[in-house]
This record gives sequence, C-alpha cells and structure tokens, in this order.
Amino acid sequence: MESRSFTVSLSKNPVVKMDVIPGHFSTKHYHTTHYLDLSSLKNNVKVARDVAAELALPYLTSKLVDTIVCIEGTEVIGAYLAKELLQEGTSVINAGRDIYVLTPTVNINRKLVFQTNTQELVYNKNIILLVSLMARGVTVNSVLECLAYYGGRVVGISTLFNSLPESHKYGNRTLFKNIEVHSLFTDKDIPGYKISSPSECEACKEGRGLDAIVLEDGYIKI
Ligand SMILES: [Zn+2]
Repeated sequence: MESRSFTVSLSKNPVVKMDVIPGHFSTKHYHTTHYLDLSSLKNNVKVARDVAAELALPYLTSKLVDTIVCIEGTEVIGAYLAKELLQEGTSVINAGRDIYVLTPTVNINRKLVFQTNTQELVYNKNIILLVSLMARGVTVNSVLECLAYYGGRVVGISTLFNSLPESHKYGNRTLFKNIEVHSLFTDKDIPGYKISSPSECEACKEGRGLDAIVLEDGYIKI
C-alpha cells in the first residue's frame, strides 16, 4: 500500500509537501480514495514554519487578529502563524499587538468548550480558525458553532487540505455566509480524489476490501 505513495508539494515552496497514498480508506464519517499524510506539515518544525508563512499571507496586511484557534493538531503551525502576523513592518497590520493561540477542550458530553479562563480570548475577538483537513465540513462546522456560542468573530479559516465544494455552508448562521477560506492544498491537487458515504463508495460497490482505517493522526492497516 505504501509503495503506491506519491508526494504533492507546493509549487512555490517544495519543502511544503504531503505524502498521499491511493487506495480504499475508511474514516469515522466517510470512505476515501486517498490517505493524506499531513503529519510533516504539522509536526516538523521547519516545515510548519514555512506552512505558517504561506497561510499568513492573506491576513498579513488586512486582517486584525486576536486569537488563532487550532484544532486537529495544528498548534505548532498556529504558533508560527502568530509569529508571522506579528512581524515588524509598516504594512503589517498586527505588528506590536498580542495574538493568542488556543485549542478548545472536549467536555464529558463530547462537546467543544472553552474553559472559563480562556473564554475572554474568544468573546468579541477576531479569530482565525486553523484546521488540518476539511473533507465533509462536519468538524469545522461544529467548531464554528462553538466559536459563535462564545461570541467570537471568525475572520478566516485556514486549512492544510480542503475538498469542500464552493457551495459549502460554513456553520448554520448568516454570520459565516461570506467567510474567507484559505487552503494550502485542495482536492484539485490530487487527481481522482474522492470522498463518499460508505453506501455510495465505488470501491465498496466493486467489492474491494478496505486498505486501512484512517484516524486523526494516522491509519491502521486492515
Ligand atoms: Zn468504500
């Protein structure tokens, strides 16, 4: 399975790359034709720094940012993103300000929450939501609802990989109608990439067994 893997890199900076394995994979919510290894982008400090520099560009001169909310293991990138946004420069809008990097907690009812002492970093603040992968939008929508509940203003979503259609509705509120989404890679970078519900999966219909089960930070071969 791994022998089929290939690399997709950013044309302007080939250090920023992800390994892709074609096959038949199952996640908690859907089946997919490719496994994406985003771990180097998130956990290799040098690469994460370059990823952050790229993700900072759309906000650098135009968006005031108070808080970066990280989910799905994007905290290292989040810290570098804050550093990029705080760099000195006359056109850098956040220079000299403070930016906080925050992760919501999952409570015993499996609901995303911010603890009392961090809620003030969300309420009435300008927030970038930093996400690893947006496939069906279930996770990102639940985080957006959580941020809206705590009174945060989301100025943009940045993601490492995005396969959501342009028509996707982010959250259920008009608040998120024109939300900016910035993606490092999209499904257009992977020829043949497809996600589908298990009942509509072509590989399943052809009777092909699963190669692996994909978890948040890796996969388990079957
Ligand atoms: Zn399938």
